[in-house]
Amino acid sequence: AAPERNDFIRQIVREDLASGKHGAIQTRFPPEPNGYLHIGHAKAICLDFGIAQEFGGRCNLRFDDTNPAREDPEYVRAIQDDVRWLGFEWSELRHASDYFEVYYLACEKLIAQGDAFVCDLSAEDVRAYRGSLTEAGRESPWRNRSVEENLDLFRRMRAGEFPDGARTLRAKIDMASGNINLRDPALYRIKHTPHQNTGNAWCIYPMYDMAHALGDAIEGITHSLCTLEFEDHRPLYDWCVDKVDLAGHPELMAPLVARGFPNTAAKPRQIEFSRLNLNYLVMSKRKLLAMVNDGLVDGWDDPRMPTLQGIRRRGATPAALRLFTDRIGISKQNSLIDYSVLEGCIREDLDAHAPRRLAVIDPLRLVLTNLPDDHAETLDFPNHPKDASMGQRSVPFSRLLWIEREDFAEVPPKGFKRLVPGGEVRLRGVGIIRCEEVIREGERIVELRATLDPDTRPGGSAVDRKVKGTIHWVCARRAIAAEIRLYDRLFTVPDPDVDADGKTYRDFINPDSRRVVQGYVEPAAAEVEPETRFQFERSGYFAADRYDHAPARPVFNRVVTLRDTWSA
Ligand code: ATP
Ligand code: MG
Ligand code: MG
Repeated sequence: AAPERNDFIRQIVREDLASGKHGAIQTRFPPEPNGYLHIGHAKAICLDFGIAQEFGGRCNLRFDDTNPAREDPEYVRAIQDDVRWLGFEWSELRHASDYFEVYYLACEKLIAQGDAFVCDLSAEDVRAYRGSLTEAGRESPWRNRSVEENLDLFRRMRAGEFPDGARTLRAKIDMASGNINLRDPALYRIKHTPHQNTGNAWCIYPMYDMAHALGDAIEGITHSLCTLEFEDHRPLYDWCVDKVDLAGHPELMAPLVARGFPNTAAKPRQIEFSRLNLNYLVMSKRKLLAMVNDGLVDGWDDPRMPTLQGIRRRGATPAALRLFTDRIGISKQNSLIDYSVLEGCIREDLDAHAPRRLAVIDPLRLVLTNLPDDHAETLDFPNHPKDASMGQRSVPFSRLLWIEREDFAEVPPKGFKRLVPGGEVRLRGVGIIRCEEVIREGERIVELRATLDPDTRPGGSAVDRKVKGTIHWVCARRAIAAEIRLYDRLFTVPDPDVDADGKTYRDFINPDSRRVVQGYVEPAAAEVEPETRFQFERSGYFAADRYDHAPARPVFNRVVTLRDTWSA
């Protein structure tokens, strides 16, 4: 069993259950459907869904879709796909836009209480009035409108009487607050834009902070977990929750209840944790979008992208990502995680679970001259050296093989343990061969001729004879030609995101991050479903491409090399 997770948030959850503050835990994962999820989101997903799972609670997937201009159903679909792929299922699928009527009624209540007002300042003036960290803000000249006038104007905003940007609804809090988020923040803005979920029903849209806080309250979220940059927003979050008091005002929930939603309103608590930062990559949605649009990568699901769609296509397993989020843990300390930690988790998972196969990535022909031309054999190979329960498969063997070009050297560098002219090497699972002849076309070596020592074959009298190296091979008559995509890190430097010396992340793209070659794989590697993962012995971990692989035309992506080649 996995060791019990124990971070400061889980401690709070345990205490709240022990003290009886909550009978059950309710969390949520609240993405904005304005882009694809990335590895950072996996940390939040594993936390939100993981806590609900561990404590017998519930976790909702809520689309915080309050900004119609930037949102798209394509993202909504991909996000659901990603959450499920990571191994989680939501209790309820919700949208902030499901709650638009509640938000609206809540704001009428704030107006009636004297806690909100309609402001006619332009966006530019609002900024100028807001002040700065060192300078108090100034109150809007519209701040002291009567409740009646505010209500009338807010209703007319909703009715569509005013153009975009003409007015906003603002909270009346404190223009002198040391926390700028409390300087009369906007609650609603006018935007005559159709919404992916509500169509043309609305021309005013709630601001994120209010919608998020009330969304949590509506769903009865007990622990609202978010990243540290929202710490300064917590006073506003609490202000919205407390001033509206949905739990104490069922009439505000009535529109939802009328549509069949249960009234689960309660007071949520926001708790912040540090976001995931990983070196060697760029995570901002804006930059990922630019990379896609400018053709620096082949799309959102390019196997080099840090999106969950990209990481999945590359071939990492959801278990590896969960292992990674466990390993980095949860705290309030900002840190930068080394990319090798992620690769290490992917390797660890695939080492334990991926069957072994033989594949030759850069093929060189090898003829075993002392076998008859019609020699055809199948050899049994274990699928995993450390796990007999994974069984065996048959590997065809004949006189004609492919070996890896780099496993032969005419002029061997010091310490070279593989094949050299006149030298011996063990063919994995076969026996010892001696290289007798090197065939060229022009300068290029096109074939090696070798003899197999039959006594060194399994069961033979000299099976224990030692040679220095072992190399892998595939049968050239039966192996399947495969497209092999050799992926590597997308950036060459640990901090591609730091704009310095007039350079940006664009200047640090690794030109060798994608190399496509034609190789050969044993038949048992080709006859598989997309997304099947293997260790190609001595080469690395590979996955059949989610979209392009077919048994008759195999396509494999390198997920990760066998060993870390980046660390010094
Ligand atoms: P944007 O700033 O473009 O809106 P976002 O990264 O905030 O993007 P959301 O869709 O709002 O994306 O994020 C959903 C949830 O994922 C939020 O709770 C957010 O705090 C969390 N999250 C986003 N990035 C990270 C990260 N790098 N590490 C941990 N959690 C993250
Ligand atoms: Mg966001
Ligand atoms: Mg962000």
